[in-house]
Amino acid sequence: MIANIAIKDIMTKGIVTARPTDSVLTISRMLKAAGIGAVVITEGHDIKGILTEGDIIRKVVSLDKKPGDLQAKDIMTSPVRSIDDDFDIEEASRIMRDLRVERLPVARNEKLVGIITQNDLTRIEPALHVILREERELRAMKGEEYDRLFSGICENCNSAVVDDLKITEDKRLLCSECRGETS
Ligand SMILES: [Zn+2]
Repeated sequence: MIANIAIKDIMTKGIVTARPTDSVLTISRMLKAAGIGAVVITEGHDIKGILTEGDIIRKVVSLDKKPGDLQAKDIMTSPVRSIDDDFDIEEASRIMRDLRVERLPVARNEKLVGIITQNDLTRIEPALHVILREERELRAMKGEEYDRLFSGICENCNSAVVDDLKITEDKRLLCSECRGETS
């Protein structure tokens, strides 16, 4: 039954992204501001890598390196395996286990559309479609910097990577158009 659920039904759609040349300090602040554990590193539509809190602890802080002196590309995991959004969650689970990773970027036609985590998968056991909708809402971002602009993908319109995302009061990551602002 679990195998029938597609990645696209449970993935997180709003994604914060950063560039390979962004400093680790900038990215750390981004993670804190958005209340998330990882950013996908992109260049245009291309997924270049993934950078997690764990990378920052293991490759920067614990080695007493300065986050301001390092760029994302110096410590990100790259290349990064992505998974197609119509794959089922059993497949995602197997890939994460084989690669020993906790997150996988999700792609459609090689374009980034979401991210799936180990938590997303364990949380839905036993899987019930009815529960999924509520779970999606529970997984909303924890960030509280409502005025800050993020780059990434809007969770509503799923447009290409844009620079005008904000966290809304109800903890969604939306572009200016989806927030109803005229720009
Ligand atoms: Zn939007």
